[in-house]
Order: sequence, then C-alpha cells, then structure tokens
Amino acid sequence: MKVFKFGGASVKDAAAVKNLAEIVKMYNNSLVIVVSAMGKTTNSLELVLKAYFENKPEKTQYFLNVKDYHLKIVEELFPAGHAAFEKTVKWFDELFEKISTEPSMTYNFEYDQIVPYGELISTTIVNEYLNYAGVKSQWLDVRKILKTDDNYREANVLFELSAKLAKETIKHGEGKVYLTQGFIGSTKNNLTTTLGREGSDYTAAMIAAFLNAEFVTVWKDVPGVLNADPKWFDNTVKLDKLTYTDAIELAFYGASVLHPKTIQPVKQNNIPLYVKSFVNPAEEGTVIGNFMYDKLIPCFIFKIDQVLINIHPIDLSFIAEENLQYIFSVLARYSLKVNLMQNTAVSFRICVNNDSTRIPLVIEELEEYYRISMESGLELITIRYYDQQTIDRVLEKKEVLLEQHNQRTVQMVVRKVL
Ligand code: ASP
Ligand code: MG
Repeated sequence: MKVFKFGGASVKDAAAVKNLAEIVKMYNNSLVIVVSAMGKTTNSLELVLKAYFENKPEKTQYFLNVKDYHLKIVEELFPAGHAAFEKTVKWFDELFEKISTEPSMTYNFEYDQIVPYGELISTTIVNEYLNYAGVKSQWLDVRKILKTDDNYREANVLFELSAKLAKETIKHGEGKVYLTQGFIGSTKNNLTTTLGREGSDYTAAMIAAFLNAEFVTVWKDVPGVLNADPKWFDNTVKLDKLTYTDAIELAFYGASVLHPKTIQPVKQNNIPLYVKSFVNPAEEGTVIGNFMYDKLIPCFIFKIDQVLINIHPIDLSFIAEENLQYIFSVLARYSLKVNLMQNTAVSFRICVNNDSTRIPLVIEELEEYYRISMESGLELITIRYYDQQTIDRVLEKKEVLLEQHNQRTVQMVVRKVL
C-alpha cells in the first residue's frame, strides 16, 4: 500500500487533473490518494468566509467566483450530462445554503464549516475523472476516519481512534484506489475541523502511518527538495536524500516544501517519503528517510519581514528564570512564535514574524515591566551544514544584528545595507 499526496497546484486546472490521472495510472493499485483544494481555492473560500462572517453582501460574488472556477474545470474534463456536474453542483448548493444562514458560533468554528468545501469538491471532481479515465477509484470522506478534538482551525488528531477507523475502512482489493481529502477531519460528534493551512501533507503522512504504507509520495511542482528557495537563490541544487531530522529542521525553520508536522508520523514508522515532480514523474526526486549522507550540502532558508524585539527589565533585574517565565507566558497567551532568541544579563531579544495583530498585544502587556525597542524589515537566514564560504555568500550587503551557531546550523538576523 502506498500513499500519494497531490497539492493545489497539481489540480489547478483541467490539464493538471488529466496529468494526475496519468501519474496514478503508472501505479494504479493499492493506493490512497490525498488531494488538496484546487489551485488557490482555500484562499478564495477564506474570502467567502470572511464576508459571510461579517455579513457583507460580497459573499455571494465570492461564492460564485469559486463555483465558476470549478464548473469550468468540470466542463473541460467531462462530456455534457456526466454525473460530475450534478455532484459538483450539489456541494455548491450545500455551501450556498450554509452561507445563507446567520453565522452562529466563533470565527474558527465557521471557518471549518466553510473552507473544507474546497477539498470536498476537488476530490469529487478528481475521483469522477479517475473513473472516467479508467481507474477504479473510490471516494472516501476522510471525516469518517480522521477524528480530531474541537480546536477548530488547528485541530489535534486523535491518533489511536483514527488509526483504528482507517484500518477498518480502507481495504485494498485488486487494483483499487481510494481518493480522499487532505487538511480536514471531524470531531467525534461529526463536526468538520481543519488541521491548519497546508495541512494536506500531514494528512497523507498520518494515513501512511495508520496503514503502515510502503512509502508516501508528495507530488509537487518542483523536482524535489531543493537546498534553497529558487525565489531567492539562482544556483539551487536538488537534494537526493534527506534525513527525517533534517527534513523536520528545515520545515521548522521555514522551508516551504513540507508542512512541519508531516515528518513525525512517517519517521515513527520508518516510512520513506518521496518528494517528486508531477511535471516529470519519471525523475528521481528527493527521498526522506533514515540514512547517512555521502556529502553534506548547505541548505538555506530565508524568512523575510522579520521583527527584532529588545526587551529590557525596567528594574534592571537579570534575565533569568522569573523574567523568562513571565515573557514566555505573554508570548504563549498571544501565540506569538519566536524564531530566534538571545539573552544577556539585562536584556532579552527575540526575532518574530511581522504579525501586526499579535505583536502590539504582546508589547502592550510587556511594557508594564519592560522597556521595549523594535526593529522591523529584517531577514532571518538559516543555514544548515554551513561553512564560512556559504556564510560569506549570503551576507553580501547584509549587516548581522543577531546570530547563533551550533554544530550544524547557523541562524542570523540581518539588515540590508544600501
Ligand atoms: N488546501 C489547504 C491549504 O491551501 C490545505 C493544503 O493545501 O495542504 O492550506
Ligand atoms: Mg497546498
């Protein structure tokens, strides 16, 4: 049994769906396929949700934009009168009914009742197309197996229960393919939940772990995991192999290739995870697993729009346990994630993403006991397997404000010099 994951870009239009079917045909059995919403649908549904929640009339137009986009794809994929039309329209009718009611509960709850339609609709269309193209594919509502708590928008998976349900539900006969949704789940009371943006990789990894899959393949629009984001770097290299630990570290520091939670479930079960190109499916890609490297390749991660916050106790007390405990309780209360930190005797510095809602709340609370200064517009550069040459290369025209080295990784908060 194998698990495939196809993200939004791999189902963004009719040609992409056809390409997905070609890839599935190359394997075509004992497969569970996890699919995201088509293209940028999740963003578009977030607009629908916001307008719905704020009772804005634009909600109808936003809804129609999402509907038109999907129906155009259905039109390109199927002959007139195919069941895919009716099934797709049925989801949109249901969603329209939902947005015609008054929003009742909290924003996060409503989010999880609206945004998951992206995945429900994409999997319906892709499943219909696979069958139309001759693949025996069965649509599976992942909410029947992936059970979570009710922490809407960032739901935590109930592993044991979900594993049991997955094993009971997914039974592979000859040549059978199951097609299901990433990113979504449901509570024990069957209310829909989501796992956090970009959560479909995580869904695929969990399903692989539940069923002890041979491997997971995440199909992407890049040839594999690269040592840097080509957006910032010209000479990127594809990494043929990556250890689980390195994959976790890179994802955690902000490499956008995989959701940071993805590696844990496959690592625990020693399941290899391949990252491959859906454009060139015959190419090798990257394999993430347990092994020794032949050679270490420096990996770079850039995070832009960083803010450095300097925190000085007004009473000049030392930055030790009590101050740190207090500062972190404030950070945790507002869920402001620290990307890098450093302390001296009487100051504490943290580097965070420029979050315009959370930062002012944190500062306001801290200002009671601390003098705060801030600098924004910075970059955080992380290099794993660094050497002096690579550091020099990235620091061209940059001034370092804060840095931290350990054996494998260097992190630097930098300001551009003009
Ligand atoms: N469709 C969701 C998102 O865009 C989940 C995913 O793509 O992984 O965040
Ligand atoms: Mg995605």
